Amino acid sequence: MKKELKSICSIKENFELKNFNTYKLNCTCDYFAEPKNVQELKELFNFIRSNNIKYFVLGNGSNIILPVHYDGVVIYLKKLNNYEINDDYVYAECGVMINTLASKVTNMGYSGLDFATGIPGTVGGSVYMNAGCFGSDISNILISATIYDGNEIKELSNSDLEYEYRSSMLKNHKDYIVLSCKFKIEKSNLEELKALVLERTNKRVSSQDLSHPSAGSVFRNPEGLSAGKLIDDLGLKGFSVNDAMVSFKHANFIINNGDASGDDVIKLIEEIKTKVKKEYDIDLKLEQEIIK
Ligand SMILES: Cc1cc2nc3c(=O)[nH]c(=O)nc-3n(C[C@H](O)[C@H](O)[C@H](O)COP(=O)(O)OP(=O)(O)OC[C@H]3O[C@@H](n4cnc5c(N)ncnc54)[C@H](O)[C@@H]3O)c2cc1C
Repeated sequence: MKKELKSICSIKENFELKNFNTYKLNCTCDYFAEPKNVQELKELFNFIRSNNIKYFVLGNGSNIILPVHYDGVVIYLKKLNNYEINDDYVYAECGVMINTLASKVTNMGYSGLDFATGIPGTVGGSVYMNAGCFGSDISNILISATIYDGNEIKELSNSDLEYEYRSSMLKNHKDYIVLSCKFKIEKSNLEELKALVLERTNKRVSSQDLSHPSAGSVFRNPEGLSAGKLIDDLGLKGFSVNDAMVSFKHANFIINNGDASGDDVIKLIEEIKTKVKKEYDIDLKLEQEIIK
């Protein structure tokens, strides 16, 4: 298999993913594939699918919990990183970092993407997750997304993506790869935008634990409630399973204190869920994704 994969695109074998996930979890994978353009990605995906090979698509790894070993191919798309800023929309390929793009667009005096200046994910991962904060999310600005489904490249509209809170239909179509998308933007007052972004950055820095490896919020907020507050009220800040610990700064963040494994994070999640269920009869739902 290695020979065939190598004839398609850049392939690394037994690759360590510690620096490819924001939790900094140790994880090796059988193969790490890095297509440099859509043609290579298509060939790679066709080969993987026709040979029934296990795979997953990796963005910036900022919303996933990795296993100790992934026995398949990791498709890494950061080399698909072209973008173009127009007067009323932005075109971006899936591998572009959304926070970098948002800062660029905002500093040019356009609103729309300003909510995303603190989200450390790729465009692909953000379109998939419907990433959002400060009262906005991807569903508010997405015009269309170009996807590859293993057979054809097609354009999906905003409504095709069936967006919901931190979710899209892409979660039920694991065979859809987001190649690129268009976001709408609008000319706005630069000074006001800069002040808004600064205020939000300060809010993030003061409330979130940004000094330890994490993957942001662990649980979705239950309707009308804050997951962080529920966990905090149970006195769970500092509660840990090995090096995976509930952050002292933000109870909906799990941090890696050094050598946590994906299993440690998952065990801690299960413990928190059990305690929240017992105390409040609420089923917390994961915002992060467990890769198996
Ligand atoms: C400090 C911190 C703060 C955060 N703040 C926020 C926040 O305010 N709001 C928020 O919503 N999130 C936040 N997050 C979580 C995370 O950054 C977002 O969910 C982000 O959009 C995930 O993108 P990613 O590229 O890292 O995706 P990954 O974690 O790499 O992948 C997530 C999922 O997307 C899929 N995927 C990735 N690329 C593609 C593609 N091209 N096509 C199809 N599927 C794809 C993956 O297979 C996986 O299922 C935060 C994370 C951290 C660490």
